[in-house]
Amino acid sequence: MSQARRRQRFQDVPAREPPPPPPPTTTTTPSVAVTPTHTIIERIDALFWRNSKNKKFTVAVLGAAGGIGQTLSLLLKQSPRIESLRLYDIAPITPGIAVDLSHINTESEVAGYVGPDQLRNALVGCDLVIIPAGIPRKPGMSRDDLFKINAGIVRDLTIGVAKYCPNALLNIISNPVNSTVPIAVEVLKKYNAFDPRKVLGVTKLDVMRAVTFVHGLRKDELQRLRSSVSDVTVPVVGGHAGETIIPLLSQMMPKLSKPFEGSELQNLTTRIQNAGTEVVDAKAGSGSATLSMALAAENMATSCLKGLAGESNVIECAYVSSNVIPELPFFASKVMLGVNGVEKVLELGTMTSFEERMIKNAIPDLRASIEKGVAFARSS
Ligand code: NAD
Repeated sequence: MSQARRRQRFQDVPAREPPPPPPPTTTTTPSVAVTPTHTIIERIDALFWRNSKNKKFTVAVLGAAGGIGQTLSLLLKQSPRIESLRLYDIAPITPGIAVDLSHINTESEVAGYVGPDQLRNALVGCDLVIIPAGIPRKPGMSRDDLFKINAGIVRDLTIGVAKYCPNALLNIISNPVNSTVPIAVEVLKKYNAFDPRKVLGVTKLDVMRAVTFVHGLRKDELQRLRSSVSDVTVPVVGGHAGETIIPLLSQMMPKLSKPFEGSELQNLTTRIQNAGTEVVDAKAGSGSATLSMALAAENMATSCLKGLAGESNVIECAYVSSNVIPELPFFASKVMLGVNGVEKVLELGTMTSFEERMIKNAIPDLRASIEKGVAFARSS
C-alpha cells in the first residue's frame, strides 16, 4: 500500500474516545477532616489577634436591621474580638436576623432585641455601641435633610447609652454626622455621662473612598512602588458632608513622584466629597451607601476594640470633640485609639495652601451644623 493511501486510511478511522476517568477512590480513613468553614475577617484579624491580650468585648449595633446594620452585623459576627453581639432595631425582623447570624460557626453569641422596651437589655454591659439607625438619603437630598428624623433617633438611643452603658465607646454613623455627634454629646452631658474620648463620628468611609480613587488614578506608579491599594493612606479631616470632607492629599502615603495638582487635584477632591451622592444617585431612590459603609464601620469598630484591648499605634480618622480648630468644638482628625477610646487627637500636620483654604471655607458650615445639633439636644 502506498504511503499516501495508508495516511488516507488512518485519517478515515474515527478518533477513539478517551477512556472515562476512574471513579474517585473511596477510603475508610476517618481522620481526614473537612476544610473548616472560614471567614475572611477572622483569618486576617487572627494574625494580629495573637499579639493582643486576648480580651473579648460586647458590642451592640443599634439599627441592626437596616442596609448598613445587617451587613455590619455579618462582618462583626466574624470578629474574634467579640464575645457578645447585640442587634437592636425597631423592626420586628431583628431577632430573626440574630438567629440567622447565630448559625455562623464563629465564637461570638448573637442576640436580637426589638423596640424601646428591650433597649436596656441590648445595652447593659456593652463596651462599644455602633449607631447606624435612621433614614438614608434619596436623590436630591443633602445629609442635613435627614436631620428632622435622625436627630430624634440618635438622641433617644444615646439616652439609652447614658443610662445603661455610660462607659461604652460610641460610634455614630447616622447622618448628618456633623450634627448627630454634637447631639449625642449634649445628651451624655445631661446625664452626666460625657467623656470626650468615648464619642466618635464614623468618617472612615471618606478615607476608604479617598484611597480607592487615588489608587485608581496612580495605579502604575503605586505598582512600581510595590504598594497595593491597601497600603495607601490618605487622611480625611473636617466633617462628613460635602465641602466639609477635606482629603489631605499632600499627606498621602506612599509619597508620589508627582503630587496631585491643578484640575486633577480639584476633580479628585470634588469626587471624594461627592462620593456619597454618587451612590445615592446610582441607587436611584433606594438608599445610600450600605455595603462599603458597613465595611468602613467594621474597620472602625475593630480599631476601637484594638485600642480597648491595649494595642498600640491604632490610628484612624474620626469626627470627635477637639480643639484642633479653636473655633470648632468638633472636627474630624487623625486620632490615636487606646484603652479609653480617643487617647490623642493628632495635629493636622503640614498642609498646602489649597488644603488650608478648604478648612477655612468649611468652618462656617461645620459651626452651623454643630450649633443646630446642640440647640436641638438642649431644647428637647
Ligand atoms: P436603612 O433605612 O436601611 O436602615 C436604618 C435602620 O434603622 C432600619 O432598620 C430602621 O428600622 C432602623 N431604625 C429607625 N429608627 C430606629 C430607632 N429609633 N431605633 C433603632 N433602629 C431604628 O438605612 P441605612 O442605609 O442603613 O443608613 C442608616 C444611616 O446611616 C442613615 O442615616 C445614613 O444617612 C447613614 N449613613 C452614614 C454614612 C457615614 O459615612 N457616616 C454612610 C452611609 C449612610
